[in-house]
Amino acid sequence: MERYKLLKDLYSHKFFGFEYYDDIKPTFKQKTSENSLTSLLTLESTVKQCHICHLASSRKNIVFGEGNENADIIFIGEAPGALEDESGHPFVGRSGDMLTKIITNVLEIPRNEVYITNILKCRPHNNAAPTFEEASSCKDYLFTQIELIKPKIIVTLGATAYKYLTNDMDVSVSKIRGSIIEFGSIKLIPTYHPSYLLRNPSAKKDLLEDIKKVKALL
Ligand code: URA
Repeated sequence: MERYKLLKDLYSHKFFGFEYYDDIKPTFKQKTSENSLTSLLTLESTVKQCHICHLASSRKNIVFGEGNENADIIFIGEAPGALEDESGHPFVGRSGDMLTKIITNVLEIPRNEVYITNILKCRPHNNAAPTFEEASSCKDYLFTQIELIKPKIIVTLGATAYKYLTNDMDVSVSKIRGSIIEFGSIKLIPTYHPSYLLRNPSAKKDLLEDIKKVKALL
């Protein structure tokens, strides 16, 4: 919890006009038998109290993430939408159904075997793309989730998730999708966001290729 006190202090400095952004470097440790479920539950209760950015004032629920706390794969999306904000669960609704189909039909594992979360834990106003400030406010939570779960593979869904996770802001997903990128000791595979596939069904074959690569790494 020391890190959250520090983060709160930094944000109170920011309130007085200081600016400070430091990129968090991925230095995740190997899987251990530590109880990651207890630590995730503690982290979730911290996020429930979070007021670091302005999205706290309009959220109905935080959307922390869900799934297997020892998952080999973490899927990272962008941010909760209206249905997620209402329910507190990530990826419900049409893009959620699409993601569930990808996991069950292509990876051939149940959805609750993987872990699913987002860059932001609160719904952005009018479903806008997350801002740098919002993503920076949530980043430590996401990195702690990754550190506790210690997955083998991270799949980022869409450009926003990849950019804010890696700080590589100029990249185009259509160029890097399907690449296997070293992210600390984790393999990171960027692919399209399920909502992009709903709008562009012809991209499904690319996504299929990317997820087959994920499967081969398991
Ligand atoms: N639902 C989520 O939880 N995340 C997204 O990125 C989109 C829909």
